[in-house]
Amino acid sequence: MAIKLKQAGYHDFVILEKAADLGGTWRDNTYPGCACDVPSHMYSFSFELNPNWSRMFSPQEEIWEYMRACVDKYGIAPHFRFGKQVTSLEYDDHQRDWEISTADGATLRAKAVVSGIGALHVPKFPEIKGRETFKGPSFHSAEWDHDVSLDGKRVAVIGTGASAIQFVPQIAPSVEKLTLFQRTPPWIQPKPDFAIPSRMRKVLRLPGMARAMRNSIYWVLETRALGFTIDPKLMKVHESMARKHLENQVPDPALRAKLTPDYTIGCKRILISSDYYPALTRQNVSVVTDGISEIRERSVVDSSGVEHEVDVIVYATGFKVTDALQEQHIVGRGGVKLQDAWQDGIEAYYGITTAGFPNLFFLLGPNTGLGHNSVVFMIESQVRYVMDCLHLLSKTQARAIDVKPGRQRAYNRRLQERLDPLVWNEGGCNSWYLDEHGVNRTIWPGFTFEYWARTRRIKPDAYELIY
Ligand code: NAP
Repeated sequence: MAIKLKQAGYHDFVILEKAADLGGTWRDNTYPGCACDVPSHMYSFSFELNPNWSRMFSPQEEIWEYMRACVDKYGIAPHFRFGKQVTSLEYDDHQRDWEISTADGATLRAKAVVSGIGALHVPKFPEIKGRETFKGPSFHSAEWDHDVSLDGKRVAVIGTGASAIQFVPQIAPSVEKLTLFQRTPPWIQPKPDFAIPSRMRKVLRLPGMARAMRNSIYWVLETRALGFTIDPKLMKVHESMARKHLENQVPDPALRAKLTPDYTIGCKRILISSDYYPALTRQNVSVVTDGISEIRERSVVDSSGVEHEVDVIVYATGFKVTDALQEQHIVGRGGVKLQDAWQDGIEAYYGITTAGFPNLFFLLGPNTGLGHNSVVFMIESQVRYVMDCLHLLSKTQARAIDVKPGRQRAYNRRLQERLDPLVWNEGGCNSWYLDEHGVNRTIWPGFTFEYWARTRRIKPDAYELIY
C-alpha cells in the first residue's frame, strides 16, 4: 500500500506499527522451521520479482529480509512510526476525517485510513481447566521463547495446524519426549520444496524468466480452485493424493487411523509437509487424540484420564481470526461502533469498504482469504482498488466516500449464497473460516482472477460521495 501510494505521488502518510520493527507475520513467527507454504515466487509482490529465492518455499528470515529490501528500495522507511499501537479510530462527522489514537496517548488526524492489521496475529490460547497452574515454561507458537531449550525435555504440543506441522519435525529429534495433542487431524499433501540451484537462479535472472515462473505457479495453484469454487466432489483428486501420502509415510495402521481426517479435504486449510508424518513415527513421539480435560502443575491430563507429565507446553492453537477486526475500537458516522454495525457478522464490500465508515479501507478484510493461492495477490488487488478510490476522491473533490448499505448487503447475500454449497461450509469440519454462527466470514469463494477483475475499477454508483 505504501509503495503504491508513493508511486502515485502521495507522500503525506504514516504507517502505524504496534511493534518495534516491520514484518508482521514474518517478524512474529520465529518458531523452528517457520516457512511459507505458498511458493515464494508467488508469495511476493508482482512488481518486485525476486529471482534469488533460495528455496521454492522460503524460510521466515528470507521473507522478512525481502520485505526489508522492498522498504529500502521504495523509500518507505521514513513513513514508519514504530511502537504505535492504534487504540481507536473515530470518524469526525464535522471535519469528515478520522481521529486516530494510539496507546502512548498521541492522536493523529487523517483523511483516509487503511487497515492492514491482518487476521493472524492475536494468539489464541485454548480454554482448558488449570492452564494457568502449569509450573513449567509454556508459550504460543507465534511467541516462541528461544530462551527455553527443549533439548532433552518432555514437551507437549497442543494443536496440529499449519504452524505445528512445521516445527514438530524440527524439535522432535532433540526432545526427550514429544506428546502431540491432536483435536482434528489435518489433510496433508507432500511439500514440493527444494533448494533452488544457483544455475536455476541464474536462468531466473534472465529477462522474462522470473515472470514466467510466477505465472506458471499462479496457474497451477489456480487450478486447485476448481474443487473449492465449483463442487466439493472435485476435491477427490486432492484427497487421494493426501491419503497416499499418509499411507506412504505412516506404516503403522493404528497411527494412520488417528491421522486420517473424517471431513472433506479443503474444509480446513490443506497443509503441505513431507517431514511431519515421519516425525510422528519416531519412538519418542506420541499422538494423543483423546482431548484434554485438564492441565496441572507438571502435566496434561487427557479426557480418558491419562496424565502426561511434561516440562514444557507449546500452544500451536492458532489465532483469534474473525474477531481480530471486531475487537478494534472503530467508530464511524453518527457515532456508530463497528461492533454494532457488524452485530450480525463482519462484512464489507469486496472485503474492502464497509457502510457507515467513510474512507476506511481494509486489506485482507472479510471474505478475502484463500484456500488455494497466495493472499499477496489479493492484497495487491485491494491496494489497487484503494488507489482507485483515492483517485475518485481527487477527481470529484469529494471529502469522503461511503459504500451504500444496500450494495454491501446485496454483495454479501450473493457471496454467502455462493459459499453455502462449498467445501468450507459443507465439508463437515469446524474451522476458523467460520464465525460463531457457522457463517463463513473469511474466504473468497471464487477464482482469484475473478476477484482481480471485479476490483479492477471502483463502481462509483456503489458509493455515496460526501462533500
Ligand atoms: P490453526 O491452523 O488455527 O491450528 C490450530 C490448531 O490448534 C488446530 O489443530 C486446532 O484444532 C488446535 N486447537 C485449537 N484449540 C484447541 C484446543 N482447545 N484443544 C486442542 N487443540 C486445539 O493455527 P496455526 O497452525 O497457527 O495456523 C494459523 C494459520 O496461519 C494457518 O491456517 C495459515 O493460514 C497461517 N499459517 C501459514 C503458514 C504458511 O506457511 N503460510 C504457516 C503457519 C501458519 P482444530 O483443528 O480441532 O480446531
